[in-house]
Amino acid sequence: MSFLNKEYASLKPYTPGEQLNDRRYIKLNTNESPYEASDKAKRYAEAELTKSRLYPDPENSLLAETIAKYYHVNKNQVIITNGSDEVLYFIFAGFFTGEKRLLFPNVTYGFYKVYADFCGVNYHEVPLKANFTINVDDYTKGNANVIIANPNALTGISLDLPEIEKIVAADKNSLVAIDEAYVDFGGKSCVDLVGKYDNLIVIQTLSKSRQLAGARVGFAISNEKNISDLKKIKYSINPYNVNRVSEAMARGAMEDQEYFDKTIRKIIETREVFVCVLREKGFLVLNSSANFVFAKHAKMKGKALYALLRERGFLVRHFDTDLLTDFIRISIGKREDMMLLTDEIDNILKEMDQA
Ligand SMILES: *Cc1c(COP(=O)(O)O)cnc(C)c1O
Repeated sequence: MSFLNKEYASLKPYTPGEQLNDRRYIKLNTNESPYEASDKAKRYAEAELTKSRLYPDPENSLLAETIAKYYHVNKNQVIITNGSDEVLYFIFAGFFTGEKRLLFPNVTYGFYKVYADFCGVNYHEVPLKANFTINVDDYTKGNANVIIANPNALTGISLDLPEIEKIVAADKNSLVAIDEAYVDFGGKSCVDLVGKYDNLIVIQTLSKSRQLAGARVGFAISNEKNISDLKKIKYSINPYNVNRVSEAMARGAMEDQEYFDKTIRKIIETREVFVCVLREKGFLVLNSSANFVFAKHAKMKGKALYALLRERGFLVRHFDTDLLTDFIRISIGKREDMMLLTDEIDNILKEMDQA
């Protein structure tokens, strides 16, 4: 006997990266930061602990103001959510369920398809070009909503601002959502375009570039009307979606510019060295503006390399679809972790040559 609504029986839910505890791993599979949260974030969290008996502010006003100030918008143009996954869900459920078709790339953040199926969205997955870049012209024909991750998930490749603006400007009656989860690692945010276009919504997260994946804080910025519409959905589901401690940590993280700059710089430097080393070893590595690289080796299948690395204590991500099966995605960790990883990749390649 199943009590589950029949409509959900065939759902294919999102598969999160492994969080294993059976041994010590160098964890490079879910694009978390290798660094701890800023001290300011920890101090703010500590101060919040004595207030846990009280519900949080459902508007998360202090954090909304901090983010609004950071991006030079008004606080009514910001909604805070439990990770950016939650605001993505609100956007799919609230804005993408109408008659209009939704477009997104066929290689991107896996959750878009999951939310689209869950919400019954009419969608089309647009193929990337052979070099894994987005063909902007596929998204400028009008009469379709669009969601794009910029930099794109899995590939790490970013579009520049004029390209994003071209998509947004193509049809003012279609909504364009730009997911900037990785923008801090080398992309350009399009938040400034929100003042110019009412059909743009920008999504960001504190999970990747601000060390708060475990605190679950994300947000969206758009015009006041779109944000108040998203809040209608939030208040219809879970008004207290962001807990006190997480909100406080997020405020501390947003305020600590020095720590943010320092950790971003280290990750970008590590990435640039790592990409060079991989290419020297015969990998094809896509140009990454994110905190991960997407790479394949002519002599070894992605799945085999993933499995061998896992046996040796390194977790990376492999996606088992025709288009992606040769690749592995490697998050950028600390410099010393990446050196251990390259040594291990060397060993694997050598053993292969001997076999
Ligand atoms: C990681 C990620 C998210 C979700 O992050 P949260 O932890 O839910 O904030 C959203 N979009 C993309 C493209 C991501 O890679």
